[in-house]
Parts: sequence; structure tokens; C-alpha cells
Amino acid sequence: MKPNPFNRRDFLKTLSYGAGALTLASAFGSIQAMALPQGKKLGIALVGLGGYAGGQLAPALQETKHCYLAGIVTGTPSKADEWSKKYNIPGKNIYNYQNFDEIAKNKDIDIVYVVLPVSMHMEYTIRAAKAGKHVICEKPMALNAADCVEMIAACKKANRLLSIGYRLHFEPHTQEIMRLGREKVYGKVTGVDTANGFKYNGDPNAWRLKKALAGGGALMDMGVYSIQGSRYSTGLEPLYVKATEQKTNNDLFKEVDETIFWDLEFPGGLMTKGKSSYNNNWGYLNVTAEKGQYGLKPAFSYGGIQGFTPQGAMNFPQINQQAFQMDDFAQCVLQKKQSRVSGEEGLRDMKVVDAIYRSIASGKKEKII
Ligand code: NAD
Repeated sequence: MKPNPFNRRDFLKTLSYGAGALTLASAFGSIQAMALPQGKKLGIALVGLGGYAGGQLAPALQETKHCYLAGIVTGTPSKADEWSKKYNIPGKNIYNYQNFDEIAKNKDIDIVYVVLPVSMHMEYTIRAAKAGKHVICEKPMALNAADCVEMIAACKKANRLLSIGYRLHFEPHTQEIMRLGREKVYGKVTGVDTANGFKYNGDPNAWRLKKALAGGGALMDMGVYSIQGSRYSTGLEPLYVKATEQKTNNDLFKEVDETIFWDLEFPGGLMTKGKSSYNNNWGYLNVTAEKGQYGLKPAFSYGGIQGFTPQGAMNFPQINQQAFQMDDFAQCVLQKKQSRVSGEEGLRDMKVVDAIYRSIASGKKEKII
């Protein structure tokens, strides 16, 4: 069984994208772009047809207004047949990993979305950019910050836009958390405590547990959300980190981290707490500000995100995060403007991840560089 890190129980509550877009376009300046007159729908090709591509992205692409599922890249011929029938994808838009570069000649494909194991993110992002395609790459962006720098440079050189699959930047409760911090609605943020994780009971041979393919364990997979949470609720970039690791199952997690705890130090001395785990069902973001506490729980799931402030429960609609995320990127491509979840945003998190692993190795506080 594949790991299923996100709670989807509340997903039924999710509004249809059309209804959500109408409500939200007026409620949130940041997605006003949705109200722009419709132009051409851009074609997206998904690379890697695993759990996330099949369970979330392909269904979301049935709801998008500015892009659609135009192509697929897969190493499994039976999946090519199945997807081709299910999503009406013509044979000329189906590639495998060997002939992928021929996508350069395909005018139906504007954007390549890399949904592969982490170790393959850099290669396919760079190949896609060289083929003249704009790129969305899943999180974590790459194995380390150095690879992220190469990916950003390759996309710049090819004059293509790069975006990371940070769907929560399009989620209304999360956007409210960003606003509360940015506008200091409850005063200055004085602390953040955030955690993300799930109890891994999936395949012991899955790529997620192999260091060469995943780069690391729960920190890479789940911890990036907590790092993001600390960054977007404070609006600041951390300077130092001190981290510790805990492992209870040395067999299952012999190559990768199981649970990691860290303290981030921000400019002005603000400290935030984060943790990631493959052995705990965590998913919250608690923010302490001068005039009260607010936060999200669940904070990072596909649907059902709930928020609270000193005034009580937040009241925002549930949306299809992936549909909003991909439509926003399509708009960025059409308007030739950088995505709010650019490659640089992915790089910032990977610098923190690198420093967390360095801190675990050294036992000391490490500078984020
Ligand atoms: P998955 O294991 O379900 O799918 C991976 C896909 O890659 C499969 O189709 C597999 O066939 C293919 N693949 C190609 N070469 C492979 C190789 N050498 N080893 C293993 N698989 C190979 O994984 P997933 O959960 O779909 O994750 C894919 C990416 O999406 C990861 O980067 C993950 O972090 C990301 N993801 C993001 C979210 C999110 O909410 N943004 C959620 C889940 C996954």
C-alpha cells in the first residue's frame, strides 16, 4: 500500500472549483487573476503517473480554467493506455523517459509538471526547460540546495518559468495566516510551533525510504511544509537552525530520518519550533503574536483545513488547491510573470533542510546558507 500522508476525510466538503473561484475571486486580491478574461488553455504534461499525479493532479486538471491535461510521460505502457482512455490523451502526446526530449516539438504542451521521486526532479526540470517548456516541479524541490540552484539557472537560461508544487499558497485559510502576520493584525509574531507527519505503514521498499531516491525521510517529504509554515506565518527568512533526530524503527528507517525536531532562529531573535515525522500523525501550525494566538489544524492537508484566531473559527471556503495552483501558474505563463511559488521559494526551504541535516550531524546550531 502506498503511503497516504494526507487526511482526505473532509475533502467532500470541498467546493467545486467553479463555485470556489467565484467566491474567492472577490474575497482574495491574490487570486483576482482568476477573474481575467479567458484566453487559450495551456497544455500540461504530467511526468510520473503515481499517487499524487493520479489521485490529485489529473482530477484537478478536469476543473482548471486556464490549463488542461494535454500529455503524459510514463515508463509503464499499461498506464499510458489507461490514462489515454480515461483522459482522452492522443498518442502523439504520450512520452516515455527515453523519448521525453522530443516533447520540444510538441506545440500542445506548454508546461511540464514533474511528479517523480525527488532524485529525478533536477534532471526532468532541466530537460523540460531545455525542451522549451515551462516547469512545475513537485516538493521537495530537489535533493539539496545546490541542485535547486542548477534548476533555477537552467530555467533562466532557457527563458522558461519555474514553479514548485506549493499548493497551500492558494488555500484561503493559509492565505489568511500569511495576511495576519504581514499586517500584524494581532501584533508582531513572537513564536510559531508547527508539525507535519504521518505514521508510515506503506511499502518498506518504496522510494520514499531510499536515501538515493528521496534525499531524506520525513523532513524532505513532510517537514518542508512546517518550514514553509514558519516562513509564511512570520514573513521572515530564518538565519540559524538547531535540530535533533529521533529514531524508533531502525529497520524501516535505516536510510532516512523518521522524526526530526528543530528550532529556527529569525532576524531579531524570533525563535520558531518545527518537527516532521514518519511515525506521528501531525499537521498543525500555531502562531503566537503579541495580542493572541491563531493557527491552522489540519494545516497542510489537501482539504478540510480549519483555522482559528482570538475571534473564533475562521470561515473560509474549501477549494481545490491543486486546480488553483496550476491555473495560477498558467496565468503566470500567459502574463510572463514569476510565480509566487517560484524556484527561489523552493530553494529557500532546501537551504533550511540542508542546514537541519548539518545540525544533526554536527550536534550544533548551524547557519542557513
Ligand atoms: P509515487 O511513488 O506514487 O509516484 C512516483 C511515480 O514516479 C510513479 O509513477 C513511478 O512509476 C514513477 N517513477 C519513475 N521512475 C521511478 C523510480 N526510479 N523509482 C520510483 N518511481 C519512479 O509518489 P508520489 O506520492 O506521487 O510522489 C511524487 C512526487 O510528488 C514527490 O516529489 C512527492 O514529494 C510529491 N508529492 C507532493 C504532494 C503535494 O501535496 N504537493 C503530495 C504527494 C506527493
